[in-house]
Amino acid sequence: MTNIIKRVGKKINCPNCSHALKYSWLSRINKDWVSLYSKAGDAVLVSKELTRAAASEGELSKGVSIYEVKHGIDAVHQFSVRNEMKCPNCNYPLTSRSGEKFEDIVGGRVVFLEGMTFINDENEYRVEIDAR
Ligand SMILES: [Zn+2]
Repeated sequence: MTNIIKRVGKKINCPNCSHALKYSWLSRINKDWVSLYSKAGDAVLVSKELTRAAASEGELSKGVSIYEVKHGIDAVHQFSVRNEMKCPNCNYPLTSRSGEKFEDIVGGRVVFLEGMTFINDENEYRVEIDAR
């Protein structure tokens, strides 16, 4: 059985293909975690544990490799700091992490879409968003 994470969110159309997207986010207020997207942009890893490795981009990259092995994360995801969240219909990048400063990526909010895989230190979920 797949775990579900339910969030309230908003709707937006993909700027490239106009596909209707439901999205939600976690702000940084009083929260301590690091977020990374998968290579395909269809999964997000939100980890408290990885904040200990987030002093620099190089350190975080190493930390992610160790984390993936330790937590048995499916290698298909290839989580990385510079990966973008992508439109599930056309693969258009919906975030701009490839060009952002490392500090801004680590300090920024994380956005995710309906249907994405959401992984944290405890479990793996499928995202459901109630958007109106
Ligand atoms: Zn699209």
